[in-house]
Amino acid sequence: MLPSQSIEDSFRHQGMRRRMVEGLRAKGIVNEPVLQAINKVPRHAFMDTAFLEMAYEDRAFPIAADQTISQPYTVAYQTSLLDIKRGDKILEIGTGSGYQACVLLEMGARVFTIERQRELFDKTSKLLAALKYKPKMFFGDGFKGLPVDAPFDKIIITCGAPFIPPLLVQQVKIGGWMVIPLGEKEQRMTIVLRTSEDDFETREFDMFKFVPMLPDKVKNQLK
Ligand code: SAH
Repeated sequence: MLPSQSIEDSFRHQGMRRRMVEGLRAKGIVNEPVLQAINKVPRHAFMDTAFLEMAYEDRAFPIAADQTISQPYTVAYQTSLLDIKRGDKILEIGTGSGYQACVLLEMGARVFTIERQRELFDKTSKLLAALKYKPKMFFGDGFKGLPVDAPFDKIIITCGAPFIPPLLVQQVKIGGWMVIPLGEKEQRMTIVLRTSEDDFETREFDMFKFVPMLPDKVKNQLK
């Protein structure tokens, strides 16, 4: 954790967070467990203290290494599509700030999360430990997933994927699904449902804008 981050959660933070949640409700997020989880995670702790006023605005924000913490609406939207049941085993691609992973943990999911940038992986590992959130964190390439820990009930990709990563869909349980923003410049939120060993069905949702899912920066670390 950096000295410029604060894990203290004051009444003021809590009040700002409640208002953010009401804003998400007004924008059409209806999944109560998702809203409750978002109401619990201190989003300001994932950003520099200088940006406290912005931590509870509904917008994406720069973190380290040219990346962003996703917009709360996007987190709520993707988490709603995951339809988390307590105990679900979830793989997240793109740990980033760790915020989305913590929302999933608050919903009772078991979370595995992969980040390809060392700087973010290190920074977020320290922050989540300080906040006492305990996802299983991996420094590696999301296109490869985690074959050793597969299958997963559901997989969430939090960067813009140019195509459906073939190795990843193989790591979804039959009856499980992947929530993936598909596209280059803009992404169509898509669900890829695994209906049998070899069959998949896709369903399309709204358009979003994510930072790109980039290939292998860590060839030598993960084999
Ligand atoms: N879930 C994050 C959003 C972070 S932005 C949050 O809540 O803050 C997307 C993240 O995906 C970035 O940190 C980026 O470095 C990471 N990423 C991009 N391509 C990746 C890949 N192939 N494997 C793993 N992570 C990747």
